[in-house]
Amino acid sequence: MRDRIPGFTERWWSPRPSEPRAEGRAGVRVRVRVRVPQGEEEIKVKGTCHCGEITYEAEVDPEKVAVCYCTDCQTMTGGTCHVNAVVADDGLRLTAGKPAEYTKTGDNGNKRIQAFCGTCGTHLYACNVEGPKHYGVRVGAMDKRAELSPKARFYLRSQPGWVVDEASLPGSETQ
Ligand SMILES: [Zn+2]
Ligand SMILES: [Zn+2]
Repeated sequence: MRDRIPGFTERWWSPRPSEPRAEGRAGVRVRVRVRVPQGEEEIKVKGTCHCGEITYEAEVDPEKVAVCYCTDCQTMTGGTCHVNAVVADDGLRLTAGKPAEYTKTGDNGNKRIQAFCGTCGTHLYACNVEGPKHYGVRVGAMDKRAELSPKARFYLRSQPGWVVDEASLPGSETQ
């Protein structure tokens, strides 16, 4: 990220009245920088599209994984959502292949590049055309996807109502 400082990470923090250095009000969440041993927050992942033409490596903070249920994500995946990990601009390295790109304009007018494999169609990541560069990397193509449980959900207004009842449906371990 643009303001990234090595050795520091950003966290939400709620000051308590007893904390002498509290600058905010108790109960109000503020964004603070905290020092962390390097490498402790992020895990290294490898990603591969379905056909194997495109591969990448990335450093992912497991706390920055979220589900997006916006209608764009539904249409582009042909499913219910994208699951994204926010990756810093220096945290994503393509190791093989070159993704195809499609630029979409979001609700806020931002133009976002959607990168995917031009051969098999696997969604890989999205990033801004302009402005601070960071990637929303699609967790489903990562080797460690099972470890990266989402910590937030976006665009719930577009989430299909039946998604919340999914867990109660009859199921089987395979097809
Ligand atoms: Zn592919
Ligand atoms: Zn979305």
